[in-house]
Amino acid sequence: MLLREHGLLFLCMLAACLAGIATRPIAFMATFWPANGLLLGLMLRNPVWSKTPLAWLSAWLGFVAADALTGAALERNLVINAINLVEVLAGWLFLVRQGPATLGFRRQRSVLVILVGCVIAATTGALLGSLSRDLFFSASGWQTFIIWESGELYNLILCLPVVLAAPRGWFWQWRWRRVLRPLGKLWGLPLLALLASEAAAFALQGPGALVFAVPALVWCAMLYGVFLVSLLNLLVGLWSTATLVLLGLSLTPEQLLDAVSFRVGVALLSLAPLAVATAHALHAQALQILHRAVNHDFLTGALSRRALMERGAQQLQRLQRESAPVAVLMFDMDYFKQVNDRWGHAQGDSVLQQFAQLIQHNLRPGELFGRIGGEEFALLLPHATHAGAQAVSERLCAQLREHRFTTEGGDEFSVTMSVGLHAGTPADTPYTMSELLARADAALYHAKTTGRNRVQAFDAAVMAPLRHGEISA
Ligand code: GH3
Ligand code: MG
Ligand code: MG
Repeated sequence: MLLREHGLLFLCMLAACLAGIATRPIAFMATFWPANGLLLGLMLRNPVWSKTPLAWLSAWLGFVAADALTGAALERNLVINAINLVEVLAGWLFLVRQGPATLGFRRQRSVLVILVGCVIAATTGALLGSLSRDLFFSASGWQTFIIWESGELYNLILCLPVVLAAPRGWFWQWRWRRVLRPLGKLWGLPLLALLASEAAAFALQGPGALVFAVPALVWCAMLYGVFLVSLLNLLVGLWSTATLVLLGLSLTPEQLLDAVSFRVGVALLSLAPLAVATAHALHAQALQILHRAVNHDFLTGALSRRALMERGAQQLQRLQRESAPVAVLMFDMDYFKQVNDRWGHAQGDSVLQQFAQLIQHNLRPGELFGRIGGEEFALLLPHATHAGAQAVSERLCAQLREHRFTTEGGDEFSVTMSVGLHAGTPADTPYTMSELLARADAALYHAKTTGRNRVQAFDAAVMAPLRHGEISA
């Protein structure tokens, strides 16, 4: 771990503690203490740091320095910050075992697991805090315990998800535009709804005001992703606290039960939008995987035949409206059975994968590359003239011919392919996928029967379009 990273960790903790101390009512716990959640999150996200004892020391020195700078007595400073560190360690010991997918909100149970981690940390802090309460508070042991427990639950549940769900790197390295882009969805209406519900809660007050924001937060959760929702939870939590404190709630033993109930309420309420955001993100991810599985060939990543036909048909409609030219290429490996026979089926699969990569590297926007079946592929080139399509085909043929495939045993071999192409003028081009493929297929059949390893263009004078499946070269 670099010296610079120790320095950054120290400064982060110092800044977070100073921010917390600024919210500390006279002689009592901070209204908001972000440092423990921040440290716990940073240690969970950076396994190298958490395994470096010096990193824990750097962080702890940040805590101690903040109290020293603000005039805390030395004994109180050292003890309370030792408790803070042990509290974070307790949460870390539990959460670090849960794995990166759970901590990264990629499991349905993530929110509950993180809640358990926060309870463990808060309870550890509360127990130690109530045992050494004589140093800081005039409250009794159990009062100290529940104030500490509820306060830390509130701090950790609001802060930890923000750190865990944040983009990689330090916040000044983030691409903010990308991070904030989801806020523009639906013209930011969910965000406006959130502001409106907070305004209504502020105006009406009363015991129900805390939950006014829930529908808007759930709406945000469905659109904004886990990170932004955790950030909104934090802002809403802080805003609710600020308004209550302004209206006279003091987070001191005099109003013990109100304060405890309020803090636990805010903390637990934030879990619902977080769970919705997690579920929604998982659902979107599952759909994406499914979509890819349906539309792409598993082996080569090329479009599936069905997706090629569907997307091709859409492209062709557009091209027909513009009276633009289009070309279709069909590829078939030469003597591919021999590749399988000689080097094995797995090696044959690898040839197909490398071939597909080779084509995909050459693809330009709008071009569609799909697997028709077996070792036959097709490529749709919008706006390509005959000469252009011929040049592309020759170049791809040459690239494949020159490509050296290596077997596991270290043997080298090469393969060739035959290409059939159709590129007509807009006047004589049929703008349907099946007709275009039938013409390219007829040209391919001709290429096969006239020597292979070559490009053949469709010529209506000598070839009849083949429906796919008729070819048996
Ligand atoms: P030709 O030059 O006439 O095309 O000869 P060919 O041997 O390539 O014959 P054809 O195109 O008719 O045969 C295709 C062969 O490709 C049949 C099968 O063994 C092989 N093949 C088809 N799909 C796959 C696949 O997914 N993986 C592997 N390894 N081989 C495949
Ligand atoms: Mg073949
Ligand atoms: Mg074939």
